[in-house]
Amino acid sequence: MALVQRRTKIIATLGPSTASAESVHALVAAGMDVARLNFSHGDHDVHRQKLSWVREAAASLGRTVAVMQDIQGPKLRVGKFPSGEITLDNDSTVELVAENGEGGPGLVPVGYPALLQDVKPGHRVILADGLVQLVVADVTDTCLRAEVVVGGVLADHKGVAFPDSELSVDNITPKDERDLEFGKRLGVDYVAASFVRSAADVRAVSALAGDAPVIAKIELAQALDNLDEIIEESSGVMVARGDLGVQLPLERLPLIQADILRRANAAGDISVTATEMLESMTHNTRPTRAEVTDVANAVLSGTDAVMLSGETAVGDYPAETVAVMARICVTVEEGTLVERGEESVGFVGEESNIASAVAHGAVQIAQNVGANTIVAFTESGSTARLISKYRPSQQIVAFTPNESTLRRMALFRGVTPHSFERKDSTDEEIAQAAQHLQADGVAEMGERVVMVGGVPPNYQASTNLVKVHRIGELSGGLGG
Ligand code: PEP
Repeated sequence: MALVQRRTKIIATLGPSTASAESVHALVAAGMDVARLNFSHGDHDVHRQKLSWVREAAASLGRTVAVMQDIQGPKLRVGKFPSGEITLDNDSTVELVAENGEGGPGLVPVGYPALLQDVKPGHRVILADGLVQLVVADVTDTCLRAEVVVGGVLADHKGVAFPDSELSVDNITPKDERDLEFGKRLGVDYVAASFVRSAADVRAVSALAGDAPVIAKIELAQALDNLDEIIEESSGVMVARGDLGVQLPLERLPLIQADILRRANAAGDISVTATEMLESMTHNTRPTRAEVTDVANAVLSGTDAVMLSGETAVGDYPAETVAVMARICVTVEEGTLVERGEESVGFVGEESNIASAVAHGAVQIAQNVGANTIVAFTESGSTARLISKYRPSQQIVAFTPNESTLRRMALFRGVTPHSFERKDSTDEEIAQAAQHLQADGVAEMGERVVMVGGVPPNYQASTNLVKVHRIGELSGGLGG
């Protein structure tokens, strides 16, 4: 019986709970495909150390694991208060000033210089992850005067969001610039860009990210308005439900998530579903039924990856959480229609493009000849990505001689990356791939496998060949 591979990929955030070689090794062993380094916390030495633990663990376990650098972006925060917090009472009036200094009763400093220009009367101000809400009544020369709609306690340095305002803040802060420069030297495989509003913001991050593909985090109401251009400009999008849930009424999140995933998948972008997926496992060994269903729904929506944040960064059971997530994904995939082509994920390739047409044809052929595996030979990963976009029912094993391509493919749904020695002829490539499939227990003697590559081999963007191969036919193992 050929091996069943999990298709949906798992991103796990490293943090204090996973700050040792052993704990990172345990995450990789449990199924982490991508390690997320959250640059909102930790210094460069800490991140360098974590990346090297990931690389070591992947090498020792023979797994391919990518590293994603998540930059902080322009997260706005309030300043400090003399006693560490203030209480804002319902229906009271507060003043917000564009300063970094200290606040006090009824006075909230916000370290954003253009506050009085960008925020208008009627705009909402959301504080402390949505626990406190204000509406701006008027804008004076020195402050925003706002009414407290939902009161509560506001502590030092809590986040502040302006969901109705078009902020003119730069998307990339000086810290992000330093972090991106560091990430480039470190050799991260992906960059996740926080608080992007438009394609221009994605371009700005890409320009500083070197070769690393950019995943745009969709966490602002403004990003939703510009979603198509953001999808077009980025390699992928992340449904960043934490901050999105601050910007928008929570009850809208399920439909917005489904819409983002549908549009990303239709465009062939990588799609990631993030935040609170197995939140209760931060302190428990078992998830809630609702969380299991949440992960399952993301899998059924065709997401490329599901992400763990606090669960693995500060949780008590990081490896167990990854293992539970892996079990949910594989169980749901086995029963789902998405990968059987019965329920389209809606990807519409450019059929006049040779590579797209070949990838689509390969999926169709695999279906027709009853193949369980599609092999992609790829330099840049794009052939594997193209096939994955069609969400075939077959597993995709992608062979590449390129180390960074290998790691990037760890995020593609349904793709098992495999390293490969460059060969001079397509026949030699096919023979090598067939040997690996047999050795790994992925395909058996006589089994049909659909192979997609390019002639001549070893060139980027040369996908032009589909072969239906029978394992053993080149070695004479089929008895002539
Ligand atoms: C989110 O807000 O859901 C998210 C993924 O971003 P962060 O964890 O950086 O706040």
